[in-house]
Amino acid sequence: MILPIVAYGDTVLRKKGQEVNSEYPKLNELIDNMYETMYNAFGLGLAAPQIGLSIRLFIIDTSPLAEDESLTNEEINELEGFKRVFINARVIEEQGEEWAFSEGCLSIPNLREDVLRKPTIKIQYLDEKFESHIEEFNGLIARVIQHEYDHIEGILFTDKISNFKKRLIRGKLANISKGEINVDYKMRFPGVKKRK
Ligand SMILES: [Zn+2]
Repeated sequence: MILPIVAYGDTVLRKKGQEVNSEYPKLNELIDNMYETMYNAFGLGLAAPQIGLSIRLFIIDTSPLAEDESLTNEEINELEGFKRVFINARVIEEQGEEWAFSEGCLSIPNLREDVLRKPTIKIQYLDEKFESHIEEFNGLIARVIQHEYDHIEGILFTDKISNFKKRLIRGKLANISKGEINVDYKMRFPGVKKRK
């Protein structure tokens, strides 16, 4: 089932997610719905707050990034096969020299900005079977994880740009909250009152 994606301005995007336990009702169904919702919107990742749930869950599938022709074969193989569920993730460390990459977000349609992040992360998480992992990721995969991880911490990529750029996009963000944008997937806008 395709779920509406919560737009910029909704308070759920600003909350720190609660831990998920293995008793969480219909978790597998929720994960399936999140994948369907993400693929329908051509996203690389989707975090539970983006569908209105303030819990520490996000999913990632980086295979669309593998179509970039400037990548090496090794990078392409890595990106193509990377589909993962992260439950109760905690970033243990981030390392290396910050690099810029143009990020977008399904909750903030039609807007992209360069964001600086460190290239290597070590993260602890549970998979969908509640098996625990500690893994290190680099480059684009780390980048997508960092973006989704921020969502479960109540952080958006627009928080990480310069004050000058923040001023430039203020109007666009206000329009997104009000639903005054063209978007071809289902969304829920905080600035649009429900009709009674
Ligand atoms: Zn996002």
